Amino acid sequence: MNRPKMATEKGVPSNSRVMMLLGQLERMNGDIVRQAETARQVTAKILHLIQTQEKSGKEVMSKGSSGMEVILASLESTRDVQTILNILSILTELLTVGRGRRVGVFVSKGGTGILFHTLLSASKEMPPSEELMLQLHSLLAKVGPKDRKFGVAARLSGALNVTVNLIKQNLQNPKLLLPCLQVLRVYSTNSVNAISLGKNGVVELLFKVLAPYSKKNTSLLKVALDALGALLKSKTNARRAADGGYVPILLALYADWHRNDARHRHMLIRKGLLVCLRNITNIKLGRKAFVEADGMRVLYNSSTECLPVRTLDPLVNTSSLIMRKCFPKNRLPLPTIKSAFVFQLPHVPGTGPAGRTYSQGPGVDDVVDESDDNDEADTENDTENEEDEKDQQSPNDDIETDLNKLHPRKGPGRPYEELRVYERFFVELSEDFQGFNFESSKSSSNTSLSSPFSSSVAPVRSPPRPIIVPTAQAFSPKHTLSLPGLPKDPQLPPPASASSPPAPLTPLQLDNIHVSKDQEKTEDSHIPTTDRRDRTLSPLGRPPTEAQTIEKDLAHVLERVSLDALDGVLPLDADEAHIGVKQDDVSVTRQIQSPLLLGGLSARRSGGGGSNWSSDCGSEGPEDEAAEGAVLEVPDTALLLPLHDPDLYVEMVKGTLSVPQYAEVAYPDYFGHVAPTFREPLLERVYGVQRAKIFQDIERLIHPNDILDKVVYDLDIPSCPVIEDDGESLKFNSQFESGNLRKAVQVRKFEYDLVLNSDINSNHYHQWFYFEVSGMKVGTTYRFNIINCEKSNSQFNYGMQALMYSVQEAISGSPRWVRTGTDICYYKNHFARSSIAAGGLKGKSYYTLTFSINFKHKDDVCYFAYHYPYTYSTLKMHLSKLEALRTPQIYLRQDVLCETLGGNGCPLLTITAMPESNSNDHICQFRNRPLIFLSARVHPGETNASWVMKGTLEFLMGSSPLANSLRESYIFKIVPMLNPDGVINGNHRCSLSGEDLNRQWQSPNLELHPTIYHTKSLLQYLAHIQRAPLVFCDYHGHSRKKNVFMYGCSVKETVWQSNISATSSDLQEDLAYRALPKILSQIAPAFSMASCSFVVERSKESTARVVVWREIGVQRSYTMESTLCGCDQGKYKGLQIGTRELEEMGAQFCVALLRLKRLTGLRNHQHLLDLESDIIGSQAKVVSSCPTTYVLDEDEPSFLEAIDYSAESNDEDLEAENERAAEVREHPDLLEQLSDSDNHRE
Ligand SMILES: [Zn+2]
Repeated sequence: MNRPKMATEKGVPSNSRVMMLLGQLERMNGDIVRQAETARQVTAKILHLIQTQEKSGKEVMSKGSSGMEVILASLESTRDVQTILNILSILTELLTVGRGRRVGVFVSKGGTGILFHTLLSASKEMPPSEELMLQLHSLLAKVGPKDRKFGVAARLSGALNVTVNLIKQNLQNPKLLLPCLQVLRVYSTNSVNAISLGKNGVVELLFKVLAPYSKKNTSLLKVALDALGALLKSKTNARRAADGGYVPILLALYADWHRNDARHRHMLIRKGLLVCLRNITNIKLGRKAFVEADGMRVLYNSSTECLPVRTLDPLVNTSSLIMRKCFPKNRLPLPTIKSAFVFQLPHVPGTGPAGRTYSQGPGVDDVVDESDDNDEADTENDTENEEDEKDQQSPNDDIETDLNKLHPRKGPGRPYEELRVYERFFVELSEDFQGFNFESSKSSSNTSLSSPFSSSVAPVRSPPRPIIVPTAQAFSPKHTLSLPGLPKDPQLPPPASASSPPAPLTPLQLDNIHVSKDQEKTEDSHIPTTDRRDRTLSPLGRPPTEAQTIEKDLAHVLERVSLDALDGVLPLDADEAHIGVKQDDVSVTRQIQSPLLLGGLSARRSGGGGSNWSSDCGSEGPEDEAAEGAVLEVPDTALLLPLHDPDLYVEMVKGTLSVPQYAEVAYPDYFGHVAPTFREPLLERVYGVQRAKIFQDIERLIHPNDILDKVVYDLDIPSCPVIEDDGESLKFNSQFESGNLRKAVQVRKFEYDLVLNSDINSNHYHQWFYFEVSGMKVGTTYRFNIINCEKSNSQFNYGMQALMYSVQEAISGSPRWVRTGTDICYYKNHFARSSIAAGGLKGKSYYTLTFSINFKHKDDVCYFAYHYPYTYSTLKMHLSKLEALRTPQIYLRQDVLCETLGGNGCPLLTITAMPESNSNDHICQFRNRPLIFLSARVHPGETNASWVMKGTLEFLMGSSPLANSLRESYIFKIVPMLNPDGVINGNHRCSLSGEDLNRQWQSPNLELHPTIYHTKSLLQYLAHIQRAPLVFCDYHGHSRKKNVFMYGCSVKETVWQSNISATSSDLQEDLAYRALPKILSQIAPAFSMASCSFVVERSKESTARVVVWREIGVQRSYTMESTLCGCDQGKYKGLQIGTRELEEMGAQFCVALLRLKRLTGLRNHQHLLDLESDIIGSQAKVVSSCPTTYVLDEDEPSFLEAIDYSAESNDEDLEAENERAAEVREHPDLLEQLSDSDNHRE
């Protein structure tokens, strides 16, 4: 083609030649009609030049050249067919070269409009010139996709009909048909055009092109399918196609192609057919037609055959998408989605979630509405995780833009008279330690072993101490009935308590604000700990008298084994059946009943009523193994875990009040969890796992005869949750503290659908699970599906595994939770609820979490949980054991802040160091230590928060120099479990009122949200006496993000993130709030600064963090979120998080507070001294100035916190941004996490 020689030979610069001709053409334009012959010649010459010389084309299209204008003007004005054809050929030549820039120029010069104009004129000729139409459509097909206004211009010019008529007339003329269809394809992408074309019968027309099946003209078919696919996006057209009976035709075509395209050369046609089906099935009528045409089977069979060929994935994925959409929606197999447990609130709130739940009629969740507004339709794509693309909203929507709300409010907002009652929880602020013998306390060893929960037993080996250490027992042990005794009460120390810690504070009884508290109830529910010295060394060698005692014990509140249910035969020694609860705890091992018996136990569990432990469905048949019950030795976890003691745990459970009145203890909580030493990496996702699972689900429809649908466990039949036991099914149980499993349905031999219970007084929040499985077979793979999850995505798709605890493993020396399960994935399933039942807020669809398990041991009892369980009884046990860690140098007090709705105590801890002496200076330093206020577990499902809190508490009670320094630096006020009821009853997010307690901080209700009400009051009291804490931090867990990170509050960063204009005074804010997270990011391996946020969101205005910041005025007010999954940075990158890492996090938090102290120095709190002496007034015998005794770590200078982190933080933010961007590319789910405010599980 390139013959530049010619030009050079003649010595004429080529540019002058083509430009000269164009000049000539331009001059003719005014009169081009009359000079038709010349125009023909000139355009022919230009065409020849452009065809033969690449250079010529370049010159015409070069910048500054008016060549294109001249050509278009000529096209517009000429009527001569030959000239038009010449010009169209010139344009075709010009626009074929280059990558769209030339088309861009053409479009910008109005070329498209001129082409449509020419098309219209040409269509009026009878008959129209076929060649002209061919040329015009070829050119339009080239230009169309690059011109955004193409569709509109086509419609306005009337070109749609011209093209459609041409198609109708040329169905047998592939040469012309192809470009026409190509143009039609572009027209159809415009939704208005699509409807208009549909009205003109184009859908039907296209089917004439498509059918019958033929391998001739495949390019034609491909284009026709594309056009049809585009048209079917319109619901009107989809309806037309469904009504016209085209769904079976498409399916038949697809089946034909699937059969005949053995070498997969026509993937695009097959995909095109599927796209048509996908779009038709976006409407209900289409789905109906699809199912009636046996579409499920057609696509299922073809897909199954495609599965082995990886290149066919797009077909399988689209097929799977269509099948999922058409899978008939079922309601959950439940009588109602309201919780299976009922808790009657003291009064039903008129509004709020509980109010709504109460007012909903019984049948409301029966409604499964399948409207045409299929919310997935527009966003679904063919990737495995199509859900990721949904629910995207701007992350900026939620930012607080009201500057008034961004400014901390001054004043506690309540009169001091009301707050004064909280003084009793701050004894340390007025304590003067007169009469306390510091010398003797220093010389005495750590011997006080008594527990705050069960101190009827006098501590052993503890020499009498004349002075009462101000520590209190939180749970009102019986011997301290002479309440309320404050530690410094001169009446107090009776001889008995000389050797035991001083009397506790009573649970709060604020008569003036009408808190009703039942002191007696609390006390009665606490049973004295078994005195260990009384125990015999062997459980078998126990004297009869003691056995009788134990039998009485058995009959008491709780026993996990109902012996008479065992074939009506009275059991052996009560002690034997009573697994491991009573025996010697000095040996390294414990002796417990044989594993065979353990296996049998779950079948003899008591009914859902709880107290009816001799349930009538206990006739499970003979348990022959049980009777043999060899006694096994198991590791004594009390010796492995400093804060664990199985016996003590059982005692604690006895005092825990649950709504279902649980009478059993789960083995993992009993034995305890010894964190494994091996690494648990994030699970790598198996390619195609979701698809495989979905296909198995679809098989339920395809092969209905394989489906058992046998209910094996059902809490809705309270007297008989275990339905039957024929040895062919697994046995389930969830009737223990923190348990959550409502129903189990055996779907296939080794597959179970599991349904979770909603939070009490609500009908959703299904996420937390904790249940027991037994009766398993070895050497087979069980598939579990939790079918009523609600979130649209989950870390289970990104490496997280559920936790499993094997009792057999525990017995053989590994009492621990391990991350377990393969083939894990999380996806939208075919269960749904009505939008009314969903509260109109959430999606109607449910999601499935599926995982597969191979059990290692026969007759094992295994437990599964969403995350490492941490029950309320565990907390009480840990607090009791912490008491034992107290040395004379430690000031530890445990109070009961209040009672929950469910009647459980909410513990409040005070930890600091004892003053060095009772000298004024020491007392003053003691009282004036800054306060650190910590809380956790407002959300019951976030058990990781409790493990972090355990790490914090253990560190604080430790003997390390750091812990010592820390105690000497601060007074810690800790509410380790803000929602005991939720934890006990297996809720995921709410309290018994069905409400998220972390959305109640603005105006907590005394009756409905007592723990929040009183915790907030403590803070208000502190604000009132000018002792607002230095740091407030509420520990949480995050289900959608990795790492540990913090949310804080900053006016400046909020303003930055929004577009509100703010005065400079709003931007004057020191960076104090960044210091603690910054330190944590340096010292705690799991902590990630990049994930932190300091923006105040509207949806969070009633969270602890925002309210404590705004109302109490705590600048360093945080939520600390720990991942439930694992880390993607730092030392633990690629690993799932375990209790070891979580506890370490809690300890590192303490270390960070020490570093923070170095930064903040003394001066910030100097002024408190004067104020404080005013308030404490007469009681205080201290002077108002103290030496700087609590400056530690002098190797680093103490300095004020006006450190400018900005330079640093800018870099860091940039880096964070980059990282985040990279991460988003890697994990598309992150986008959703970033945008969906609901996902910040604060
Ligand atoms: Zn939370």
